[in-house]
Amino acid sequence: MLIGVPKEIKANEYRVALTPAGASMLKAAGHRVIVQSGAGDGSGFGDELYAAEGAEITDGASEVWAGADMIMKVKEPLPEEFGFFKEGLLLFTYLHLAAAPALAKALADAKVTGVAYETIQLPGGGLPLLTPMSEVAGRMAVQVGAHYLEAYFGGRGILLGGVPGVPPAEVIVLGGGIVGLNAARMALGMGASVTLLERSAERMRYIDEVFAGRIHTLMSNPYNIANAVKKADLLIGAVLIPGARAPHLVTEAMVQTMKKGAVIVDVAVDQGGTIATIDRVTTHSDPVYEKHGVLHYAVANMPGAVPRTSTFALTNVTLPYALELAGKGFEAAAKASEPLRKGVNTYKGHVTYKPVAEAVSLPYVDLA
Ligand code: NAD
Repeated sequence: MLIGVPKEIKANEYRVALTPAGASMLKAAGHRVIVQSGAGDGSGFGDELYAAEGAEITDGASEVWAGADMIMKVKEPLPEEFGFFKEGLLLFTYLHLAAAPALAKALADAKVTGVAYETIQLPGGGLPLLTPMSEVAGRMAVQVGAHYLEAYFGGRGILLGGVPGVPPAEVIVLGGGIVGLNAARMALGMGASVTLLERSAERMRYIDEVFAGRIHTLMSNPYNIANAVKKADLLIGAVLIPGARAPHLVTEAMVQTMKKGAVIVDVAVDQGGTIATIDRVTTHSDPVYEKHGVLHYAVANMPGAVPRTSTFALTNVTLPYALELAGKGFEAAAKASEPLRKGVNTYKGHVTYKPVAEAVSLPYVDLA
């Protein structure tokens, strides 16, 4: 198969869909790889690293798209890329089509086979191609929170770990999934006092077991949340209800009870936010705003700040699927793998993922 890797064109996107190691593995499996010049620059991979693994380097995006059987990307194609679509092209990337009706229609109209990273699903319900980005965001939430707790950046002037004779910061984590667990783990590692609120008793049992009780778990209900929020130096929002907007678990009145200079990092902002006073999405260039004396961090693409780590983490999990798709061809690969089948959002002119079809009001056709 001929696999093309274009340079990402979305603003502030520095990740790339394939590392030089990935190019080497695809080449070893007998495929051709074409990489657009500069595609890996943002993640620290110069053209020469791909060329050394046998990839071909071309200047323009059109040369990458034109000959490719499969395009590997990170972000969804933008309108300036729609012109590259062609019948039978296999597109393997994050698509988030429910929020992009024009793209869903363009892919269906051009009869592109769109396999979305975010809907590939394991039998237990896990989303293996989203997990690494949640791990990155969860770990980053603590790093960012520690930064804004410094007085120079407007915070309370508190060191997460304290020092002997001075108590550590209180870190409150709402939600104990992938983001929450990773955030709690980092905060604990930095010496903070960590309390995690969850609604799943089973999940809290797991966290209690894994951390030998060093992370305090608390049932998530309005009473416990209100009390925890009051004492927080750093509050991290990490709740997800699959397929729904994040619930506003922390009300504005609760935020008003917080200490001056405390910091909120609402990782769930991409689903609408868990904290009522998170009323806008912020960016890496202007990440925080202050409300009721509390700093609010609401960046929706946190992994974008650490593109090199994120690229490695993402490609670690995408490459096995890419090798399957390239090795067997789309039909045979999809037939052999249920997780991969769940990733198929468009095929032969149809929308084949039900929630997307409903969200964008296009007819749904079952892939089977
Ligand atoms: P997850 O499904 O692994 O975890 C969500 C957890 O929330 C689950 O354990 C669930 O039991 C818990 N939960 C649900 N309702 C709750 C309630 N009322 N109280 C307490 N806990 C509750 O999801 P995840 O991968 O950890 O993702 C969390 C959020 O972070 C999602 O919205 C995701 O999109 C977002 N995210 C954002 C970024 C970013 O850059 N901002 C990056 C990655 C993920």
